[in-house]
Amino acid sequence: MILATHMLVGAAVGSKVHNYWAVAAITIALHYFLDSLPHWEYHLKHRGENITRKKIISFAVKVVIDFLVGVILVLFFAKNSPSPFLMFFGAIFAILPDGLVFLYQALKKVFKYEPWILKKHYWFHHSVVHYDINKNPKKLGALIEIIVVLIAFYFLLF
Ligand SMILES: [Zn+2]
Repeated sequence: MILATHMLVGAAVGSKVHNYWAVAAITIALHYFLDSLPHWEYHLKHRGENITRKKIISFAVKVVIDFLVGVILVLFFAKNSPSPFLMFFGAIFAILPDGLVFLYQALKKVFKYEPWILKKHYWFHHSVVHYDINKNPKKLGALIEIIVVLIAFYFLLF
């Protein structure tokens, strides 16, 4: 799922659970669960060698916008919350798995270096838990993502 959705879910957990360890564990587990559901997301195609500079830049722009939208939404909900730090903590841990995936891909691409633990995690994230990346269903995926966002809004508001 996109970063903003993961961040909203993480913030919702942070707003309800008042223990940093528990927030970290729950948000990471929820990340894998949400990624296992059918969903649509933007990708940087990494099969085949035709990754152009243009594709990388357009992907990077999407990631930055996605992340900033997440930050703005979390800020909006955190400003009147009694636990704003836990909400940001939850939002960051909710996207940690994607951060590790990014780190693995960047190290591999730039330094030709593949730390085994990051490689294992990449395999776990992409091939074990993740909903079939090649399917990327638009309508069903968008619907499920909207439902997840609405559930997060509910927990953030009430
Ligand atoms: Zn993910």
